[in-house]
Amino acid sequence: MFNFLFKKRKYLDCPYLKHSLHFFYDEIRACCSNVKGPIFYSNVNNDTQINLDYIYNKRKEIIAGINSSKSNEAIPDECKNCYMVKDFLTDKKIKQPDNSVNCLFIQNNMSCNAKCIYCVFAYVDKGQKYDVVSIIKSLIDRNLLDKKSKLMLSGGEITISPKFEELITLLDQNLDSQIYLATSGIKYSKALENMFSRNKCWETISLDCGCSDTYMKLKRVDCFNQIVNNIKEYTNKVPTAPLSIILKYIIVDGINDNKEEIKKFFDVVNDLKVKNIIADVNFEDYSVTNNKIVPKYYFELFDYFKQLSEENNIRFEISNQTQQIINKKV
Ligand code: SF4
Ligand code: SF4
Repeated sequence: MFNFLFKKRKYLDCPYLKHSLHFFYDEIRACCSNVKGPIFYSNVNNDTQINLDYIYNKRKEIIAGINSSKSNEAIPDECKNCYMVKDFLTDKKIKQPDNSVNCLFIQNNMSCNAKCIYCVFAYVDKGQKYDVVSIIKSLIDRNLLDKKSKLMLSGGEITISPKFEELITLLDQNLDSQIYLATSGIKYSKALENMFSRNKCWETISLDCGCSDTYMKLKRVDCFNQIVNNIKEYTNKVPTAPLSIILKYIIVDGINDNKEEIKKFFDVVNDLKVKNIIADVNFEDYSVTNNKIVPKYYFELFDYFKQLSEENNIRFEISNQTQQIINKKV
């Protein structure tokens, strides 16, 4: 009856809160979660003076708040409902971090060359409000960016950012890490070709199907063949490139939620010699926080993905967020 009195207090010890930066359309945040998480700067544009010490002090302030919380689970309001919270709860108070950054999510370019039916971004097609390259240069100049930082780039469509080649060159020349890039795959990039040749990037392309007709219904641009040809061109230039490409399949109700479409997708995956695939649900319909659970037949589709992957020696993964959504009991 009095168990709650003796319940050990849990503190949020999130590595993203301590050492990561997420450059979003007009915000600079700590992370790229399903919730906004701590926001360091709002309404950012090219006139905003970004002060790295201000960001560091904000992190320390939030951590001090966690350590002094009287709640049984000391979690800042901005982090409640984050699907990763349970992975980061600890019994001990949180040690204040140093001022280093070891993870960058770069997602400030909202221009896009697709029009996906499942797009969740309110700002899509609004371009880029601020230059991330100069902020990253300041981090490098002050020796605050870990050489092995995790680097995740997405959009909108990052490859059509006017600063894309400069950004990739900056990261390539100053860091030892690989770049993880989520892209439509519609634009061929010399910078990526160069990164593939030195095994310094992973490219995830959301193809979602295996033919032009279905692609058109999902992405509302006629670019299926262009993507396939781009992957073939990377492969012609760098034979190992397919090993660094992940093809994604977002299941969308009523369009590609069937075995025939999945089989066609695998035919293309095999033709392109890609060895990694990932499945997601449509976050517009199913999310960690809403009350909808995925239909039962999805489990048969995931089993079909597993079966075809095993038969074709392909590594199949369900994304972390999707895994939590499909495990959800409402
Ligand atoms: S707990 Fe979640 S929302 Fe909070 S900083 Fe970490 S990743 Fe972001
Ligand atoms: S590629 Fe991404 S940003 Fe562009 S329309 Fe599709 S989901 Fe939206």
